[in-house]
Amino acid sequence: MPFPSDTDPDNTVFDLLETERIRQTTGLQLIASENFTSPAVMHATGSILTNKYSEGYPGKRYYGGNVNVDEIEALAISRVKQLFGAEHANVQPHSGASANMAVYLGLLNPGDTILGLSLDHGGHLTHGSPVNASGILYNFKSYGVTSGEERIDFEEMRDLALEHRPKMIVAGTTSYPRRLDPEPFKAIADEVGALLMFDIAHLAGLVAGGAHPNPVPYADVVTFTTHKTLRGPRGGCILSKAQYAQAIDKAVFPGSQGGPLEHAVAAKAVAFREALDPSFSVYAHQIVKNASALAAALTKEGFRLVSGGTDTHLMVVDLRPFDAECTGKVAQLVLDEAGITLNKNTVPDDPRSPFVTSGVRIGTPSVTTQGMTEAEMPIIASLIAETLRHRDDAAAVAAVKSKVAALCAKFPVYPHKL
Ligand SMILES: *Cc1c(COP(=O)(O)O)cnc(C)c1O
Repeated sequence: MPFPSDTDPDNTVFDLLETERIRQTTGLQLIASENFTSPAVMHATGSILTNKYSEGYPGKRYYGGNVNVDEIEALAISRVKQLFGAEHANVQPHSGASANMAVYLGLLNPGDTILGLSLDHGGHLTHGSPVNASGILYNFKSYGVTSGEERIDFEEMRDLALEHRPKMIVAGTTSYPRRLDPEPFKAIADEVGALLMFDIAHLAGLVAGGAHPNPVPYADVVTFTTHKTLRGPRGGCILSKAQYAQAIDKAVFPGSQGGPLEHAVAAKAVAFREALDPSFSVYAHQIVKNASALAAALTKEGFRLVSGGTDTHLMVVDLRPFDAECTGKVAQLVLDEAGITLNKNTVPDDPRSPFVTSGVRIGTPSVTTQGMTEAEMPIIASLIAETLRHRDDAAAVAAVKSKVAALCAKFPVYPHKL
């Protein structure tokens, strides 16, 4: 029996996929949480496993026919344990948010107190934002960054921990440019008898490549996304000490998810193998070198970098010293027109709302995957500055767009047809 789309002349979706491929590959992709996955990862993501129901875990499935799925998921688990040196891994979370909710569900009770980094100082929605289930179901208290150096304020964190006696401390960031050493988090968690969860959604690829400290030996649980610096498919993962294995697995399924996305699990297995390859370490270190070079070049152009720079793959740019009138919202819009894609972002204690902001966040994972190095970073900085300086001049913005396309053409990310 033919499928309706075999004969359907409406190609709208596929035409849009092609338009999107052109957008992704002719513009500069500077969103810190994005990357270009390999064709192998995309192949697995688009595979026949989308047909299969596999509720349960390898060797313990509800339905039949899981012989191949079991092997694939077991492979994903063993590869990711090897990659991070973890005792236990659950590779089924559909996303980073699902991974975090499963950890809270598995290890805490609703209403329990948790400490997390506040959203406007670089934390994530799932670390207690009042509009997210984490903030609705649990009693989150937020620590922040210091006002001068804009580094995580461990003194404040310790004071809050002693005052509120949290059951869990959440470390991890979404727009904090500095390295996260696990030791000070661990010391405070131990002092108050709290569990320590590290959310390395952004940092997983850097950790895997040895370009950032690995929190796995220190934390009770580590969550991450597989699609950011780790360069795998869209998805989540939970690592834990062996003693929490059962609680975590139960919290993922049946606690908070139904059937796993085994096509995504297969793609995770592919990505974990790529990350185990020695070349991935070179990649991870190059991401950080590129971010440092871009931060230095932006500073020369007159921007202020939150915390003065970066140790990671991302930076938060305070636009005010460059142009007091240019909000993050305006910058994001006009840069998009110039083929430079990034996102508006609050700066610490931003007087503007999260929908307007005084800053933008910039990351180098995607351009590094394309093969760009320190040599290209001053060019990118000047293209950004040029666009913002001439943001009311459509012809000038269009001129930048051609320069961006010319630069990207020199670094083809997918040289072969997908
Ligand atoms: C991106 C991110 C998440 C959420 O990941 P999704 O896959 O978008 O749900 C969670 N925590 C942190 C720190 C993140 O940066």
